[in-house]
Amino acid sequence: MKKLTLALLALIVCAAVHAQKKSPKNTPSSVADITNLVTKSDAEAHLTFLAADEMRGRNTGSPELEIAANYIASNFRQWGIKPAPGTNDTYFQTVEFQKVTPPSFLEFVVDGQTFKLKEDVIQVGGSDVDVAGGIVFVGYGSRADFEKTDVKGKIVVAFTGSADDANIQRAFMTESVSKNALTKEFGGAALVEINTIPGIPWQNLAGFLGGTRTSLKREAAAVPHFWMKNSDAAPVTALKETKSAKGSVKSVGMRVKYFSGKNVAGVVEGTDPALKNEYIVISAHYDHIGVKSKPNQQDSIYNGARDNAIGTVGMLETARFFGKYPQKRSVLLLALTAEEAGLLGSSWYSDHPLIPLKQTVFNFNCDGAGYNDTSIATIIGMERTTAEPEIAKACEAFGLKATIDPVPEQNLYERSDNYNFAKKGIPAIDFAPGTKAFDAELMKYYHQPADEVGSLDFDYLIKYFRAYVYTNYLLATMPQAPVWKAGDKFEAEAKKLYGK
Ligand SMILES: [Zn+2]
Repeated sequence: MKKLTLALLALIVCAAVHAQKKSPKNTPSSVADITNLVTKSDAEAHLTFLAADEMRGRNTGSPELEIAANYIASNFRQWGIKPAPGTNDTYFQTVEFQKVTPPSFLEFVVDGQTFKLKEDVIQVGGSDVDVAGGIVFVGYGSRADFEKTDVKGKIVVAFTGSADDANIQRAFMTESVSKNALTKEFGGAALVEINTIPGIPWQNLAGFLGGTRTSLKREAAAVPHFWMKNSDAAPVTALKETKSAKGSVKSVGMRVKYFSGKNVAGVVEGTDPALKNEYIVISAHYDHIGVKSKPNQQDSIYNGARDNAIGTVGMLETARFFGKYPQKRSVLLLALTAEEAGLLGSSWYSDHPLIPLKQTVFNFNCDGAGYNDTSIATIIGMERTTAEPEIAKACEAFGLKATIDPVPEQNLYERSDNYNFAKKGIPAIDFAPGTKAFDAELMKYYHQPADEVGSLDFDYLIKYFRAYVYTNYLLATMPQAPVWKAGDKFEAEAKKLYGK
């Protein structure tokens, strides 16, 4: 009986999928079509799956996040969304990560003065080390600096960054990596960089770079690698002047683990011969922060229903809509990984784009901390691009008022994936559920185990999802793609990217 029922069910499903495939692509659409297509039960089904306890909070690196990626890809497949180019027909873009566990013991000694773990020095790469002998100072550590110094077997000390660049991102991700390679090439035993980047307190830097953390994969350090606080201690000042000293460096317990994750990417080609070369990126992060046990806390699963199963469903419903009703412009549907670990999935994507960035005319991200006003949708960055009227119109069509960021002091614009697109010059904004303030009501759920499906207001969310889909429809059909408003801080990057 059971088997027969199942077989029958399979037949019905097959027939339904077939019927869907055969039906001609209906164009264009309207508020009524969106209302019919985007239903409460459908949204509830996605949300219940993604935010279930069994998904264990969808943490980066967890098997449950892989299940979520498969779920998104399966839905794309069912709706006729094509795998994005460069994903080998899988919809998956591999993102490379590393998890660094800092040493439990670390000491750097310069001419008898000891510099200690965290307080003065942190390990940023390489394995445990125990070397003693000569220390040499190589300035900013350019190739020329290495060429004129005998570093063989010695502890090499350099300044961070370069003589004409004091950008922390480049200092850590690029210049630091090349100095480490040079240390290896010239036979040095270890590399210690003295931090000279202005404006970042050592405590913050040590807390961030020196803690257990997941980041994008960095070139494996060829020699043990340390950063230290800039110091005017006499032995360090003498080292900078005389370029040499005696000392040692020892670390115990340093671990670097490499692993990968996935962005999920599908495309729907546009119907207009010219506009189909322009892409709207519709993105949402699908990860959250996993499981954390805290004393006196019964529930340890951070389900992330609001953050960001809601956004994922906004993106999914948009995918379903475009799968059925392709519009003039092309769209890239993008589920991003590791947002909670520091916008890592979008950082990876923006450096390894699947669609050329200069063909990417807009990014409409869907992410939020939760909601505390069900009469509005909150659009972070709404006032910054010429898409403002379309967003207002789409929200109004479903009974919502489109409002701007109520808490600019929270820097929300820079706290979601839209930011990595904006940094490349692409007009990028974020569609968040109605947020009137960062108040107790919001904080009750924001990054809390209480952020569960059972506490969601689906009468509100259905309006929110439909407004998001409708805005995407308007973005894909408006005659001119939206641009940054004059004077925006990303306008110069946009000119570089698009050449206009
Ligand atoms: Zn989020």
